[in-house]
Amino acid sequence: MKCALVRPDGTTVHTERHPTDAGRGPDAVVETILDVAEGLAGKARADGRDPVALGIAVPGVVDEAAGVAVWSANVGFRDVPLRDLAAERLGLPTVLGHDVRVGGLAEARLGAGRGTGHVLFVAIGTGIAAAHVVDGAAASGAHGAAGEIGHVLVRPGGPRCGCGRDGCLEAVASASAIARRYAEATGAGPTGTAGDSGPTGTPASAADVADRAAAGEPAAARVWAEAVEALADGLATGQALYDVETVVVGGGLAQAGPRLFDPLRAALHERMTFHRRPRLVAAALGDEAGCLGAALLALDAR
Ligand SMILES: [Zn+2]
Repeated sequence: MKCALVRPDGTTVHTERHPTDAGRGPDAVVETILDVAEGLAGKARADGRDPVALGIAVPGVVDEAAGVAVWSANVGFRDVPLRDLAAERLGLPTVLGHDVRVGGLAEARLGAGRGTGHVLFVAIGTGIAAAHVVDGAAASGAHGAAGEIGHVLVRPGGPRCGCGRDGCLEAVASASAIARRYAEATGAGPTGTAGDSGPTGTPASAADVADRAAAGEPAAARVWAEAVEALADGLATGQALYDVETVVVGGGLAQAGPRLFDPLRAALHERMTFHRRPRLVAAALGDEAGCLGAALLALDAR
């Protein structure tokens, strides 16, 4: 859990991190969220500040209007009325948001998309998800599930996705898919327990695959190129739908820098026929974007 005290102008005055420890079950995680939020409000008051609102963001399917964490695989949430629970505990106006949508909000308003009205934020890590931000607000969809660009079908009959379908974008191009596909290509098996492993004995990560591709290793170069091509297909779909000025790519895979952005930009622009070419840039706020975005959402709703 990444937590912060944020001023109304978007500057952060204090940050904290706490383990989620999801293995304890969803009820315990909710209790920890409430305890941590209460602690932050107390810290603000002790420092002579007046907390005015609370923003919480969680992964999965989030009904922002109802303030309910509908479904979250990582932390086991099923229909948790997190907004009302927190508002009751802290006595502050509270909003509940979605981790990627609020991350996109922060990047669009304060980060790499700053100054542009139409932004598509795409987070690439274990999975791939997006937020379409227009004039500083991200639409959440009719069921709280907008932006699931990772489940756009890009390779019919391709690798099996976690959602159960074959050929979704994130089954080819998420950081975990890249690591898995490289392990399979080099005979290391899905867990990398045999065959290829680095000097430390750990399986190659997506970042390692990027390094090895840059060094000219054929299997790595192939897996990396396939991921880039699939991402370009996914982003081209996004651009056809949204016609944005700026595509901001964040999440772990964005750490690959020019090894990702140079070929991805070229492949994306190649796919634009009559569509305007969006700017393609790396996220600027790092892994605190979600935390900052939750605060912005709370300030908006005040
Ligand atoms: Zn899928």
